[in-house]
Amino acid sequence: MKSSSTGRRRKARPTEGGRVTRPVVLALAVLLVVVSTVTGYLLLSHENDLAAAVSPAKDPGPSAEPEWDGRTKVLGDGSTSYTGPQEGTLKPVRLKPGEKPPQFVVFSWDGGLEGSDHLFSHYRELAKQYDAHMTFFLTGIYLLPKAKKDLYHPPQHSPGAAAIDYATDEHIRETLEQLRAAYEDGNEIGTHFNGHFCGAKGGGDWSVQEWKSEIDQFYSFVEHWKTNTGYKDIDPLPFDFKKEVTGGRAPCLEGQKNLLKAIKGYGWRYDASSAGDFQIWPAKKDGVWDFPLQMLPYESGKYQGLSMDFNFLYNQSDGETQGNPAEFPKWEQQTVDSYMAGFNRVYYGSRAPLFIGNHFEDWNGGIYMRSIDQVVKNVCTKKGVKCVSFKELADWMDVQTPQTLARLRTLDPAQSPDWSSVVK
Ligand SMILES: [Zn+2]
Repeated sequence: MKSSSTGRRRKARPTEGGRVTRPVVLALAVLLVVVSTVTGYLLLSHENDLAAAVSPAKDPGPSAEPEWDGRTKVLGDGSTSYTGPQEGTLKPVRLKPGEKPPQFVVFSWDGGLEGSDHLFSHYRELAKQYDAHMTFFLTGIYLLPKAKKDLYHPPQHSPGAAAIDYATDEHIRETLEQLRAAYEDGNEIGTHFNGHFCGAKGGGDWSVQEWKSEIDQFYSFVEHWKTNTGYKDIDPLPFDFKKEVTGGRAPCLEGQKNLLKAIKGYGWRYDASSAGDFQIWPAKKDGVWDFPLQMLPYESGKYQGLSMDFNFLYNQSDGETQGNPAEFPKWEQQTVDSYMAGFNRVYYGSRAPLFIGNHFEDWNGGIYMRSIDQVVKNVCTKKGVKCVSFKELADWMDVQTPQTLARLRTLDPAQSPDWSSVVK
């Protein structure tokens, strides 16, 4: 079992993003009243969502979304609206006996800021071009103006503190545009939470209650950008964050244990915070799909490393965000080769979904971004491949039989089975 996945795990530290950030510490007051009101509504609405998500298990048709009257409903302060079920997303279908599963590939982005690098729009457009959907894990404080940062009360840190920079007002505006377009293109908006705290006093040290506070504040920021920014000229976003956000990735992949307990009341479908696993078919953990980053063959299989830009950086330039430029072409090729080796292993093998996580960054001259560009072009065009969001994958997993899922779970990544013995 898993023999094809073993290997030395040199320096492949299961973490992400920590080095690009710097702490900002300031103190002020918070609108607890707003937060607690929002929480009450959240709990109610998510119980309904949960019931809806559980019911269609027998019939692999569209999920039991409450009947929509065809009218746009503006929500709250006009920051968001409900415009009906999202269009253009994957219709989940149960596998027929003997059918080979599609090769799912999920590209996911931590942060989701449209900054001066314009990487959010770049990947949104690339996805569109290659008929792919992606998951954008939005950082909640990217919709909170810096002038209002004291509204954020991070667990174990002073009000307004964050380990990442707040967005400029202009970038908030541009991020809103991209969120709107991303949703309309069929992509998923998830959460990367707020302050991006890692290590001591980060998510790994947070209680269940503290994680809930972080989640409630995420919803509060993204649902009140209109009040907080004062932008009256921008239309409400075309989706309801309470329905749209059904999973996330914890900063630095820290704290999943308490996070999984914290998300119970919100009706979330999956979590992508696991610190890494082999390329095997996913299972549920605490009632939600566990979609981890995965161990890929690095440097022609000399060892296995995680499917994330930070981990390539860590191995190639010892975590220096700008290493030796003479090495960039070689490192870029190594990165593409690792992704492709991981892809080919399952594409010609077990068909376990491939998960790739990345940030919008320019490390080592932008080689990790260019690597993803190449991988998208290489894999999303292949026969039988579906480049989907985590939410679409959760939908698909949910309509398969438990027996099929259990048999898929027994496959080694490179094992190409007789599908009639797996899918019955
Ligand atoms: Zn991150």
